[in-house]
Amino acid sequence: MEQGNQKIDCMSQDQLKELQLKLFNQQLKRAGETKSYHGKLPNEIANLSEVKNLPFTTKEDLRQNFPYGFLAVPQEKIARFNASSGTTGIPTLAYFTQTDLSFLDKRSKEQSLAAGVKEGDIIQCMMGYGLFTGAWYHVRGIQNIATIIPTGACGTAKQILLFNSLRPKVVFSTPGYLQYFLTQLSDEDVKKMALKIAIVGGEPVSQYFKKIAKEKYGVDVYDSYGLTETGGPFAFDCERHEGLHLFEDQFYVEIIDPDTGLLVPDGEYGELVVTPLRQEAFPVIRYRTRDITRIIPGQCLCGRTYRRIEPITHRIDDMMIINGVNVFPSQIEECIYKHVSTATNYLVHVTEKEGLKKLLIDVELPIELLDNSDKLKKLEKELLDTMKAYITVTPKLNFVPLGTLPEIQGKAKRVTKDY
Ligand code: ADP
Ligand code: ZN
Repeated sequence: MEQGNQKIDCMSQDQLKELQLKLFNQQLKRAGETKSYHGKLPNEIANLSEVKNLPFTTKEDLRQNFPYGFLAVPQEKIARFNASSGTTGIPTLAYFTQTDLSFLDKRSKEQSLAAGVKEGDIIQCMMGYGLFTGAWYHVRGIQNIATIIPTGACGTAKQILLFNSLRPKVVFSTPGYLQYFLTQLSDEDVKKMALKIAIVGGEPVSQYFKKIAKEKYGVDVYDSYGLTETGGPFAFDCERHEGLHLFEDQFYVEIIDPDTGLLVPDGEYGELVVTPLRQEAFPVIRYRTRDITRIIPGQCLCGRTYRRIEPITHRIDDMMIINGVNVFPSQIEECIYKHVSTATNYLVHVTEKEGLKKLLIDVELPIELLDNSDKLKKLEKELLDTMKAYITVTPKLNFVPLGTLPEIQGKAKRVTKDY
């Protein structure tokens, strides 16, 4: 392990469980003070094994109790509001006290250090400011020791101008925007850039893209996972890139079967359920994320004892059902990056004719490749074979020149329904 908070993130699992139980009970007390949980929770649990008997909280609960149903402190103690990006409906609010923010800052600093960010590094934050938690979260933890260029969502032309002139070593971005951004740089820009580290979050990032970013652009991509509703990122990539460590001194994570609500054994896939253990303003209990992952058994070679989850590739709500087959946009991305060796963009169209659904996928490619019909035919065949084997659906592919698809800002919209 390079740097970080060794005392906490190298705690034994027994010590950690003791701490989690103490903090969980504190959260139950806080939650009991809120309008939505009042009378619905026990005052205390004797053991963490009792957590599984507590009720879940869903996005719908947050919406129904908008805006202050989950507030556990006097309103004037709220230092900041954030809201989820509303990818799947009305945005949901979260609120933080100064103390809450200091815990966010601790995590954000630790994960930047784990990604190799050093004192004095220049960081371009290309995540949108505003209600979305990402930019605030990532910048605040490291701003006292690094140099921040808070470009936010300022438009790609300005983004590139500042990137080329100020030469950041680090960017914070959504993975979709990072992919788009890389396609917009000239070969000369790429050759001259100082960029080495990208911390990305807000949506899935495929392992294949991470590999391409490293091999073609020399950029180490570090994933950061979390939700606004539960206080921002709580799982992060360490230098080994072998799963995302959970900040277990601040969060209690369970994996359940999304249909039965029962815990699945360690190592099996299911829906991640999370309870923040330090949030005083917004003490949400057992929040159902709708994100699918699993606990990776065993300890990471970096030395941290925080358990790890598999990077999130599936969000239950993103699932497309194509004539009975479940397909996720991230699976399509994996297929594309198996055969396309530079950053690219794609857009999936779902069409329907006489009750049958079909997929049409626009994939951006460099002009040189589009002009070479032999290479293009070969690529098309390889892509279709991979997709048929992997997602058992054969889409229609439409290759277009780089820069044709709509510009991406923030989280990428990868799927459109054309019916
Ligand atoms: P929403 O997108 O629901 O409006 P948020 O902006 O809070 O809300 O985003 C949280 C969701 O974004 C997560 O539940 C997850 O589906 C997705 N997400 C965030 N970070 C990652 C990541 N690193 N990898 C995959 N998915 C992510
Ligand atoms: Zn590790």
